[in-house]
Amino acid sequence: MSYTRRQFIVRTGSVLAAYSLLPRRILSQDQKRTRVILLGTKGGPRVGEAGRSNPSTLLLINDVPYLVDCGYGASKQLITAGVPLNRLRYIFITHHHSDHNLELGPLTYNAWITGLPFQLDAYGPPGLTKMASDFFKYLKFDIDTRIADEGRADPRRLITTHEINTPGAVMSNDDVKVSSCLVRHPPIKQAYAYRFDTRDRSVVISGDTAYAPELGEFAKGADVLVHEVMYLPGIEALIKRLPNAKRLREHLMAAHTLPEDVGRIAAQADVKTLVLSHFVPGDDASITDEQWAEGVRKNFKGQIIVGKDLMEI
Ligand SMILES: [Zn+2]
Ligand SMILES: [Zn+2]
Repeated sequence: MSYTRRQFIVRTGSVLAAYSLLPRRILSQDQKRTRVILLGTKGGPRVGEAGRSNPSTLLLINDVPYLVDCGYGASKQLITAGVPLNRLRYIFITHHHSDHNLELGPLTYNAWITGLPFQLDAYGPPGLTKMASDFFKYLKFDIDTRIADEGRADPRRLITTHEINTPGAVMSNDDVKVSSCLVRHPPIKQAYAYRFDTRDRSVVISGDTAYAPELGEFAKGADVLVHEVMYLPGIEALIKRLPNAKRLREHLMAAHTLPEDVGRIAAQADVKTLVLSHFVPGDDASITDEQWAEGVRKNFKGQIIVGKDLMEI
């Protein structure tokens, strides 16, 4: 299901009307407002049935796409959101679980084959550079064939990778300052949240994390916090059937955040809008929006949006 902004306003009624009245810093005539579009909201590596795609979140800052994570399906979701792949300019990977990076190579390839006119900059934890170069090795035959046969540019020169070894400032330009914060996602040590401070909005993407008060501090005063969420009764139902149930449950409990704790983080950060995304489990249609939001609301009194693929915030 896709949500245009208009449909979204109708669906959320008064909540969004209130949101549009929030004070805004003034943008100059030629600057576009910062848009946030959820491309994929299903946590975990399994490719689900239609409904939720694997994790990916798009920011359009002054009309330039900044993509946070590219789980399987990111290319397709970008196109569905109306962003031609050859406009891609910046990619940020939160951590190296495959639901967040599986399509890094293919997306880069797809942007290249669509005629990427710019340099593509990718940011993420160490391992990023090797991942990109290994992908190009994997497709060496095709790439070399197309360069020779179709006169294409070499895609290996189009992407520049930037490995983030320590949290803090990531990049900045005239439109945005991007910074990172280390979150808690064992056993992975370098898992980051990203904060985008633009001229009109501050947006924080949690990445995958267990309850992390340092993330609440990092997100202080943001307009929008997109936070992952895990629903325990849904987990219990899911893992009951699996042979590795005990280990998987332990991993999930140590590495993800329950709704009540998501609410705690949003309240600590005092954000205006909290967007739930990276749903675990993300393909259990029996869990209602109200069930996802209920626990969060106990601790957070601001606006809560239960994210859907292609929803714009
Ligand atoms: Zn994940
Ligand atoms: Zn993860």
